[in-house]
Amino acid sequence: MTCVLTNAGSKKYKTCSPTFPQVVAERECFAMEKSSRFHWEFQRVWWWTLLKTLYHFLPGSKTLSFGLPGCNLACQFCQNHHLSQTVGAVRAAATFSPEQIVHEAQKNDCRSIAFTYSEPIVWSEFAMAVAERAHAANLKTVAVTNGFVSETHRPRFFACMDAANVDLKSIRNGFYREYCSGNVEPVLNTLRYLARESCVHLEVTNLLIPTLNDSDEEVNELAVWVRKNLGAETPLHFSAFQPAFKMQTWQPTPPQTVFRAREIALNEGLVYVYTGNIDDVEGQITVCPQCHQTIVVRNGYTIDELHLNEEGCCGFCGQSFHGVTADG
Ligand code: SF4
Repeated sequence: MTCVLTNAGSKKYKTCSPTFPQVVAERECFAMEKSSRFHWEFQRVWWWTLLKTLYHFLPGSKTLSFGLPGCNLACQFCQNHHLSQTVGAVRAAATFSPEQIVHEAQKNDCRSIAFTYSEPIVWSEFAMAVAERAHAANLKTVAVTNGFVSETHRPRFFACMDAANVDLKSIRNGFYREYCSGNVEPVLNTLRYLARESCVHLEVTNLLIPTLNDSDEEVNELAVWVRKNLGAETPLHFSAFQPAFKMQTWQPTPPQTVFRAREIALNEGLVYVYTGNIDDVEGQITVCPQCHQTIVVRNGYTIDELHLNEEGCCGFCGQSFHGVTADG
């Protein structure tokens, strides 16, 4: 299935069924036995991980997403802690080489391969090996990453990627130090690098956790930073926290908080601001900034409407679409 469909702005369609098989795979290239997971899904917000929120990259297409154990941060709220915080050997059910991963993607009509679920920077040798083969097979690559990477490795890793969704967990260093065992500065540097010095399509996700990073002041600070440093058209996703890992007893984020964050960011001049992990149709649509017509209507795992013309531009007024389309 391709992602450019109509030239009139009226045609509706649905993507394929979201119920793809999940298997567990084993990574071969580590000396220690480790495991990875395969998961088939569409290019959209995955409701419980808050990951893969790429709304402007090959909309309507499928992505093969997989991850290996390990992360260089230790977020107390990690939804995938069973994978990201694994330090020992994990029993695996199957083995996939880079070639096999690419083959699986082709076999299932995927347009891209996403490195996700944990932190691909810590298993970047494997990710880059897969990326090399993916590009040779005319597939795109996506990194879902925390952006916590050294200046030395940053260009090498992202040279293999076509798109990135970077988690900006907070604009404040205190949050990173206390809840993630990290620092915000390397993440901000990665975001600046991607926006200014690379051709990688960039989207940003901020997980709102009640009382920790969800104040109006902090949301405003973050939105202003994104606009000034990455550009007003950078898609920004606000996601709702759900209790997980070491924060099992923490309250989930009320939808109202996510709505409010979106409003603040829009008022600060950001063009594409989305909500995630809550039931909010309005917060999932993409509106053309030129003619203000709705050009993408999302509904959970599916895209209900996609109004892009054959050039990948707005199907109503021809305004270019911010992002990457199949033919644009
Ligand atoms: S960066 Fe992501 S994968 Fe790593 S611990 Fe934090 S939430 Fe989990």
